[in-house]
Amino acid sequence: MKLTMGSKPAWAEEIARERIELLFEQAEEAFPDRKDRADRYVEIARNIAMTFNLSVPEDHRSDFCSNCYSYVKPGQNARLRVEGGVKKVTCEECGETERQPYSD
Ligand SMILES: [Zn+2]
Repeated sequence: MKLTMGSKPAWAEEIARERIELLFEQAEEAFPDRKDRADRYVEIARNIAMTFNLSVPEDHRSDFCSNCYSYVKPGQNARLRVEGGVKKVTCEECGETERQPYSD
């Protein structure tokens, strides 16, 4: 693991990462019944990531729309297509299509 230089101690960054993980878990549980909460959890997770200069873990990058930041789930409020090794997620909240390298 690469250590990032910054004014924040490593332990704080570790806690921040854990909180981000937890928030995405909570968002997943809240969705779709409490979509407003799911969106809020995403917002908090993004704020923590920004505060600590962290990027959102790769596993969760497709969990929200990078345009409107809604919590999105393919088959529910997003459409997922895979074309030529590229994953295309269309957010049905704002209509934006996002391309992501396909891996799994
Ligand atoms: Zn969107």
